Amino acid sequence: MSKVFNFCAGPAMLPAEVMATAQQEFINWQNTGSSVMELSHRSSIYIKMAETAEADLRALMSIPDNYKVLFCHGGGRGQFSAVPLNLLPVGKVADYIVSGSWSKSAAAEAKNFGNINTVDITKEVDGNITVLPVKEWPLTQDAAYVHYCPNETVNGIEINELPNTNGVPIVADMSSTILSHEIDVSKFGLIYAGAQKNIGPSGLTIVIVRDDLLGNAQHATPCIMNYKTTADNDSMYNTPPTYAWYLAGLVFKWLKAYGGVKTIEKVNKAKAELLYKAIDGSDFYTNNITEQYRSKMNVPFWLTDESLNEQFLQEAEQTGLTALKGHRIVGGMRASIYNAMPIEGVQALVEFMQQFEKRNR
Ligand code: PMP
Repeated sequence: MSKVFNFCAGPAMLPAEVMATAQQEFINWQNTGSSVMELSHRSSIYIKMAETAEADLRALMSIPDNYKVLFCHGGGRGQFSAVPLNLLPVGKVADYIVSGSWSKSAAAEAKNFGNINTVDITKEVDGNITVLPVKEWPLTQDAAYVHYCPNETVNGIEINELPNTNGVPIVADMSSTILSHEIDVSKFGLIYAGAQKNIGPSGLTIVIVRDDLLGNAQHATPCIMNYKTTADNDSMYNTPPTYAWYLAGLVFKWLKAYGGVKTIEKVNKAKAELLYKAIDGSDFYTNNITEQYRSKMNVPFWLTDESLNEQFLQEAEQTGLTALKGHRIVGGMRASIYNAMPIEGVQALVEFMQQFEKRNR
C-alpha cells in the first residue's frame, strides 16, 4: 500500500514508529508469551509498564506532585458527567464557557447534575467567527469551577489565554490539544482528554486533577467515575483499558524521544502555518475563524465552490490523503493535524490543494 496520510479528527493516526513497536510486540510482549492485552492488570510486569507510562506523562507535561494522574474509561463525554459529579456540590454554580460544539455538549450534560451558568463567547462578525477575549468573560465570583475547551475539534477554534478566575478552579477539556504545546498545569484545577487524538487509541481518558479537589463527589457518583476512588486505587478500581494504556505509554516514550512537547510544539506551529497560508493565499479555499483563535490541531476549510466537495474528497483519497471530510455540523473539509501527523503530510495536502485548484478553476 502506498503512503497514506490520515487526517481523521479521532480516532486519529498514531506515530508510525509506535505502531511498528506495537505490531512487533503484539503476541509476545516482553517475553511473556502473551499479548499485553492478555495479562492481568495486577501482574507486576503490567503495573511496572503502567507506572512508567504515568511517569513519562508527568515528565512530558511537568505535572506537579500535588496532582493525580488518572487513567479512566468513558471518553471525553464520560468526563462531561464526571466533572460535575465530582466537583459541583449542591448549592454551588459552575461556569461553562461555550466556544463550539464540544463545550456546548459539556454544558448540556453538566446541567443534569447541578446549577450551570452557560456563557457563549463566540460572535460572528462579517461572516468571520471570533471569540470574546478571556478578560471579558462574565464569570461567577464564587463558582465551584470554570469549564472551557481550549481547542474545539469541530469548529477549529483555539483559545490560548487563561482567564483570571481569582482562585476558582479552571477545568479544561484538552481532548484535542493535550501534549501539542506546552502548558502550565499548575494553572488548572483539572485537565481531561480522551486519548484518541494525541495519546493513543480510544477507550482511555486521562484526567489530571489537583489533590484538594478530590473527595467531595456528589453522593450518587458512580464509583468508576469517582476521582478519589480512582486515585486511591491507582486507576485500577476496576479493570482499566489495559491495551490503550500500554499504547499510550508507547506514545509518551515516542514523544520523549522526539524531544518532548517543546519540540513538537514548534513542528505543530509550522504545520498549521503552512496549511493556513495555503488557504489564505487562494480565493478557492476559505477558513472563517479570526486568525488569533485558529486551531493548530483541527483546520476546517471550505471550497468556495462547494459543488466540488465530493470530487475534492475522492481525488484526495486517491492521492493517499484520507478522512478530510468536515464534521457534519459545519460541512466543508477538516484537516486534523495532531502530533503524529508529520509535516510531510501537510506538505502533501497543500500540494494536492494547489493542484486541485489549478485543475478546477
Ligand atoms: N471533547 C472534545 C474536545 C472532543 O474532540 C471530543 C471527541 N471528538 C469529545 C470531547 C468527546 O469524546 P468521546 O467521544 O471520547 O466521548
